[in-house]
Amino acid sequence: MSVDDIERVAVLGAGNMGHGITEVVAIAGYDVVMRDIEQEIVDEGYEDIQWSLEKLSEKGLVDEDADDVMARIDTEVDLETAVEDVDLVIEAAPEQMELKKEIYGELTDFTPEDAILASNTSSLSITEIATATDKPDKVVGMHFFNPPVKMDLVEVIYGEETSDETAETVYDFVESIDKTPIYVRKDVNGFVVNSVLGPFGDEAGWMVSADEATIREADATMVHERGYPMGPFELGDLTGIDIGYHVRKEAGKPVPPIVEEKVEADELGQKTGKGYYDYEDGDGADYGHEDVSEDFDWLRIEGRMVNEAAKLIGNDVATPDAIDTGMRLGAGFPEGPCRRADKIGLDAVLEKLETLYEETEAERYRPADYLVELVNNGHTGEDAGQGFYEYGGDDGDREYRTLNVLEEGEVLAIELDRPERMNALNEDLMDEIEHVLDNADLDEVRVATFEGAGDRAFCAGADIGGFAGAKPWERGTITSMFETVNDFPKPTIAKIDGFCLGGGHELALACDLRVATEDSEFGFPEINLGLLPGGGGTQRTMRMIGEARAKELVFRGERISAERAENWGLINRAVDADEFDDVCAEFVDDIVEGPPVALDYAKKVMNRGEDASLEAALTMESQSFGLLLSTEDVLEGTSAFAEDRDPEFEGK
Ligand code: NAD
Repeated sequence: MSVDDIERVAVLGAGNMGHGITEVVAIAGYDVVMRDIEQEIVDEGYEDIQWSLEKLSEKGLVDEDADDVMARIDTEVDLETAVEDVDLVIEAAPEQMELKKEIYGELTDFTPEDAILASNTSSLSITEIATATDKPDKVVGMHFFNPPVKMDLVEVIYGEETSDETAETVYDFVESIDKTPIYVRKDVNGFVVNSVLGPFGDEAGWMVSADEATIREADATMVHERGYPMGPFELGDLTGIDIGYHVRKEAGKPVPPIVEEKVEADELGQKTGKGYYDYEDGDGADYGHEDVSEDFDWLRIEGRMVNEAAKLIGNDVATPDAIDTGMRLGAGFPEGPCRRADKIGLDAVLEKLETLYEETEAERYRPADYLVELVNNGHTGEDAGQGFYEYGGDDGDREYRTLNVLEEGEVLAIELDRPERMNALNEDLMDEIEHVLDNADLDEVRVATFEGAGDRAFCAGADIGGFAGAKPWERGTITSMFETVNDFPKPTIAKIDGFCLGGGHELALACDLRVATEDSEFGFPEINLGLLPGGGGTQRTMRMIGEARAKELVFRGERISAERAENWGLINRAVDADEFDDVCAEFVDDIVEGPPVALDYAKKVMNRGEDASLEAALTMESQSFGLLLSTEDVLEGTSAFAEDRDPEFEGK
């Protein structure tokens, strides 16, 4: 079976995950039947979907009417009726092995022979679940994250008997519902994301238990210095301290004393009103910048996460790329542990683990064979040209991690691809933008366009977390990307659909033209962080829309609508979402069909002239005019005009 054969899907369970998965699958256009054990529960799940779809629809995040999507969803209580004619079953029933086995036993009898049986289990063995069927090759893990509508990642997990055909079909299916799949090639406990995430809270727990740091120091440093979306203790409070506790106990691993104490005191986090922080009488996770500690040994935490990643790679469970994608999309990490380790240096990571292992003899620090092997082979990271990843030279083909080149030819279409961080600029993304532009074939390219992946943002700013660790003198390079965009010899267009803020706004302003959807929002929130727009935002904005409006944007830090941005002259067009693609295409076509040399000169004269005296600028203009007179394009342009036909410019 291939993904093209999948038409009808059954989701078992209408709970937290089941109804969310049903919604996502229906939005993608599949017919879905959602089954639970009682009509009341199915009805509740159905209503939850309706509510959620209406919200998505209001925000313009689904193209269809909520009713049309709902029309593709059936509800059912009888299992046989639910699954008798489906191509794929996604099981999201409670996390109990016996129950799952019972369900899979029944599925064997009731589903068509070809149907794939996928489990959304977070922690149970796919191999064992599959023993309850007579077609273990068709059983696979399909681990969505909570809430499925928002979370982009799905782990596709092999059991021992899962066939490649089954896993590949499910992988393609995940892509067809607009989610990002990663392969987990063995059903190790915790799969990829939870395996690597384990040490985040665990190691912080050991450090605080040994009085080497405070809870606030750990959380503040990991968030404000290392860029994680949440501190390890804050995260423990959110997910429930008992959850991590039981996972470790069941795996026979030691538990940090502070975790043990909290569980014994029944202080389990937000759900009990108290955990590491007090949510009833206190202000919850109230750590701040002032709690950041220079002495906090974050490499212990990151080193252990890298070690977990190395174990997964060495055991052929996942590739570095799958792990990094998983951690970014599944856990909101600012960058994946493999990429980060390549920057830190794998030798430094290994040394940290070896020292801890020698000091404590604790198994958790034992370096993974694969990590040792990389270091022994001299593959210590980016500086060495190879670590978890291979780093080519600056020319040549480079695989981009944070952007996609959607088109290469006359149109160089660049998509910023960090949707989980609203395409915020980090070092890698800025570096890759520069690399694409620096290596563009200028004989071929006639226009470069920028857009953002996902449906929320063009680019919502700079990834503060990613910069926070940088020293002021290291930040000087932040602006070079904006200059590279501004100085790109060909016309550039920013296609803006969603948030266009801070560094993202500056990127758009460094482009020549800006087309936006009406729902887009523009602003410079930097001032609210005690910063100013540092990528040309103060200067380009003033030149573009005048001092008063520019200062309003920069000083007040408030967002403005696309309509106002258009009125102020900050963007060229604000258009209805339905017309957006067409209007962008018209802009692109006009430039692609235009005379390349004249466009290059026009851009150069207009950009440079802005900063020169009028006299100098006019001289530049007339010189360029003179030079253009001798081009073949002028001959073609004038002849076409005389002959009343469309010109065909060659750029000569
Ligand atoms: P839930 O308790 O919210 O929902 C489970 C639903 O399954 C309930 O409505 C229950 O009535 C129903 N159910 C019980 N027996 C059934 C049967 N035989 N057939 C069909 N439905 C049946 O649980 P959940 O949070 O949605 O979790 C479901 C699965 O998803 C579990 O395996 C869990 O590990 C996994 N998961 C959960 C999360 C999460 O954050 N909640 C994330 C990823 C994966």
